[in-house]
Amino acid sequence: MKKNLVIAIDGYSSCGKSTLAKALAKKLGFIYVDSGAMYRAVTLYFLWNHIDVNSDEAVTDALQHIELNFHSRDYESHITLNGEEVSDEIRLMPVSENVSEVSAHKIVRHEMVKQQQRMGKSKNIVMDGRDIGTTVFPDAPLKLFMTADPKIRAERRFKELESKGNNQTTLEEVFENLAHRDYADTTRKESPLVRADDAIILDNTNLTQEEQLEFALERVTALLPQS
Ligand code: C5P
Repeated sequence: MKKNLVIAIDGYSSCGKSTLAKALAKKLGFIYVDSGAMYRAVTLYFLWNHIDVNSDEAVTDALQHIELNFHSRDYESHITLNGEEVSDEIRLMPVSENVSEVSAHKIVRHEMVKQQQRMGKSKNIVMDGRDIGTTVFPDAPLKLFMTADPKIRAERRFKELESKGNNQTTLEEVFENLAHRDYADTTRKESPLVRADDAIILDNTNLTQEEQLEFALERVTALLPQS
């Protein structure tokens, strides 16, 4: 039996990981998994239910009551939390402001990584996140590590929020949030955001989406057996 292919895309917040991952999955006919959406949905559950993230017992109990499901429409990843569509709500500031604290929790990470590894067991997938190439799929044959100028990243995320009708958040607040998450994600104890030794760096500060896709596709082609 032919082994399935996993493409791991990691990097800083709002680097365009999901845009590239989606385009790549669409082009290759792979499944796209947004691992950040999972941590965001767990965070939303914690906020809704006032779960104390400092209590291991409360966190363990809460995780048992959370069911996450992806359903894909046109390669837009939609996520449900206990059957409820939360794809838009998980992108808003209350979740962005709390997700790094929740995702740093050992028990949360353990559960999410288990679910992510299950998804990549037999299917061709592109998964993006922070620890995909280091912890979730350390043997992935293709790993990309994305980075971009922080100011450009904040502007991109700000425009994305604006286009969804969110006018309450300022560009400065978005910038601060990205800086805070980058710091928290790179310095946490449990599988911090770090480039895997064998990950290829992709700085997309000055690259168009098409150029990024081309860059990634060239690497995928190099992996496939020549006919
Ligand atoms: O990718 P996104 O920016 O939506 O991720 C939100 C947050 O989820 C990150 O800032 C990080 O704290 C956490 N995350 C993580 N590990 C992943 C994906 C996301 O810790 N694999």
